[in-house]
Amino acid sequence: MEKLISCCGLDCVTCDARIATLADDDVLRAQTAEKWKVQFSPDIVPEMINCTGCREAGVKFAHCSQCEIRNCVHSKGYETCADCAELESCSIVGNVHQFVPEALGNLKSLIA
Ligand code: SF4
Ligand code: SF4
Repeated sequence: MEKLISCCGLDCVTCDARIATLADDDVLRAQTAEKWKVQFSPDIVPEMINCTGCREAGVKFAHCSQCEIRNCVHSKGYETCADCAELESCSIVGNVHQFVPEALGNLKSLIA
């Protein structure tokens, strides 16, 4: 399956928020909000689960539109962190790669 690599390297194709948005699936929105409440922030509610993908046109999940990594990438005129010389030393994106190492692999695959 084709990947949609976000600024930090996550694959938006596999993200439940994007899947729920494209299918307009309120059950998956509710399930995703419950999961993300525990993983990310207790203030997440099903109505926030709307996102077409980090680098796609359209609605963004609230936390993604305020994302420090996404804002950094845009401020430097890059497509993703793969365009940045600091990719492997950056502590900002390193916080994601520490927990999701495949995101770093996704970015490296863009450099080849
Ligand atoms: S940008 Fe949107 S689709 Fe991509 S990982 Fe974040 S919430 Fe999911
Ligand atoms: S400084 Fe860090 S967050 Fe910003 S573009 Fe470079 S690797 Fe990404």
